[in-house]
Amino acid sequence: MDLTTGPTGRSTPHFPDPAPRAPGAPAVIIAMCNQKGGVGKTTTTISLGAALVEAGRRVLLVDFDPQGSLTVGLGFNAHDLDQSIYHALIDREIGVKDLVMSTSVKGLDLVPANIDLSAAEMRLVTEVGREQALARVLKPVRFDYDVILIDCQPSLGLLAVNALTAAHGVIIPLECEYFALRGVALLKDTIERVRERTNDELSIIGLLGTMYDSRTLHGKEVLQSLVEGWGDLVFHTVIRRTVKFSDATVAGEPITVYAPNSPGAASYRELTREVLSRCPDA
Ligand code: ADP
Ligand code: MG
Repeated sequence: MDLTTGPTGRSTPHFPDPAPRAPGAPAVIIAMCNQKGGVGKTTTTISLGAALVEAGRRVLLVDFDPQGSLTVGLGFNAHDLDQSIYHALIDREIGVKDLVMSTSVKGLDLVPANIDLSAAEMRLVTEVGREQALARVLKPVRFDYDVILIDCQPSLGLLAVNALTAAHGVIIPLECEYFALRGVALLKDTIERVRERTNDELSIIGLLGTMYDSRTLHGKEVLQSLVEGWGDLVFHTVIRRTVKFSDATVAGEPITVYAPNSPGAASYRELTREVLSRCPDA
């Protein structure tokens, strides 16, 4: 095995190319979660989703942020939606299959969101099983996809709890900047509460360092303190800072399509291999 020291200060193992998935298994559901905004949740949802498609997976992306950045980042106009995830959450007559949109990437589908979703917490609060609303919505498509990625909003409110309740695993993107670790303890508490109350299968798949700048010392220091606190839960794969990601958002395409030969696209392919090595069912 070829071992080289990566940006996290550990030897980087070789992650094998993903094998085909067992047919007929239900989708593995992964929530992209961090209550801090601007840490790369949406970028990771789109890029990992598209790279999973390259690895032969059928992927559904769920926009679960009223800002609708995932919807916009895939080239849709969030304002123009007749229906979105909000409607399936509050109206049992509307099924998720009515909401699924195909993206420009074959095999990559989207359930969109927009500002309407900001009313969902208030509407759900009085419901029985309010934490399970998203899990219920996703049930009818669990055999149509191999992986479902949920892009969470930056908060630890009822929407985040719904995402964590629906998910098998969580990926926590963190900006490689000082203070990135602030708040992660709170997120861990929330994950533990969800595990105790509504979803005892939930696990943390990994913490992902994003927007890493190898020219600065503090990026490395942040990664080192991440590894000190979280050990092997920290992904070996680290995503470097590059403007290609915002360019891809403007183009409404995943980086693997917009700039397929860029280092950013390569990093998300590497992350895909690492995620699949940690989630053998995906
Ligand atoms: P979140 O969903 O956590 O709020 P985003 O994925 O929307 O974060 O990222 C916030 C901003 O940073 C976006 O403008 C995005 O294009 C940009 N961005 C994300 N990842 C990177 C990166 N690795 N390098 C540079 N810019 C990035
Ligand atoms: Mg986002």
